[in-house]
Amino acid sequence: MIPYGRQEISEDDIDAVCAVLRSDFLTQGPAIERFEKRVADYCGAKHAIAVSNATAALHIACLSLDVGPSDIVWTSPNTFVASANCALYCGAEVDFVDIDSRTWNISIELLAEKLRIAERAGKLPKVLVPVHFSGQSCDMEAIGQLASKYGIAVIEDASHAIGASFAGKPVGSCLYSDCAVFSFHPVKIITTGEGGLIVTNRDDLAAKLKRLRSHGITRDNELMQSSGEGGWYYEQLELGFNYRMTDIQAALGNSQMERLDNFVDRRSKLATRYSELLANMAVTLPHHDERTISSWHLYVIRLKLEAIRLSHREIFDALRKAGIGVNLHYIPVYLQPYYRALGFTPGYCVEAESYYRQAISLPLYPGLTETDQDYIAATLRQLLE
Ligand SMILES: *Cc1c(COP(=O)(O)O)cnc(C)c1O
Repeated sequence: MIPYGRQEISEDDIDAVCAVLRSDFLTQGPAIERFEKRVADYCGAKHAIAVSNATAALHIACLSLDVGPSDIVWTSPNTFVASANCALYCGAEVDFVDIDSRTWNISIELLAEKLRIAERAGKLPKVLVPVHFSGQSCDMEAIGQLASKYGIAVIEDASHAIGASFAGKPVGSCLYSDCAVFSFHPVKIITTGEGGLIVTNRDDLAAKLKRLRSHGITRDNELMQSSGEGGWYYEQLELGFNYRMTDIQAALGNSQMERLDNFVDRRSKLATRYSELLANMAVTLPHHDERTISSWHLYVIRLKLEAIRLSHREIFDALRKAGIGVNLHYIPVYLQPYYRALGFTPGYCVEAESYYRQAISLPLYPGLTETDQDYIAATLRQLLE
């Protein structure tokens, strides 16, 4: 089976991990800070906080912005459940803004309209979580303007988008947001096995995120209520977690950062090639916003079902049967039974649902060969005829 995504591990990666295994620190050691500095520098952000996964990153990002019961968080329905769950962890309410029919990112028009209505109703969200779907940045300039107009904080879910850029600035520069979150799960652009990271330019958020990552504990004299107790002393100031990344993982991440631009380059070449191979088939290809450079986490097509004999499901199943590990990103989050039980019903986000009935993610990862791609395109052509 050709998988839909796969990590790329080099001998250098393996050596970097082994070096940590032979060193004094498996966790809370120097590899973490090196990795954090490397990602922060790459993004042009002031701070980076590495954590155990992007779900944990989204959780403490919400907490650092004081999301709690009685607050509302908005996100896109076309995302992994973690982008919404993070708000529920904090006891907040979640709501969804439908997607744009071309970029499949959150719709700026619908966001602006929903904000106008929410303001009148006195129900503005505290935080917006835009998701850079498939590695293409949302229109962060427009989002930043709306956020400052309505006094809303912004957490970019950039799980797909390390190595991407918007208007010439790397995703993660946080020019128009309070912070951004990356995922290093093996199917993402770079990997640490499991892993996540938050970048921010805000000193206050960075300090709070570091505490929340480690039980809410500090050893900073300035912050502690009591001092002079002794060298052993620390204080827990809030309820935090153990969301730390290990040095083993950070070493892998650091070594992978070395090849981030190569990975994105290769993904981009393969995406261009897909677009050429599929050009005259009954499918809608990914739309490219000129202000963005995508990291191409996913290559998604939408079937033009009115022009095709087979159903969406039949084509999906036939591709799997042919050894092509297609996938579907995403089931609209609010259609999950857990969210339906919160009161969401089908029809809530029309575009996300229409997208869901047509979308297929084709395999895309640096090690995918052109022969694989030709086979995928030929199989698809046969099915669409
Ligand atoms: C992968 C992913 C996450 C969660 O990442 P983990 O590191 O697996 O916790 C969150 N949001 C989006 C959009 C993702 O794709």
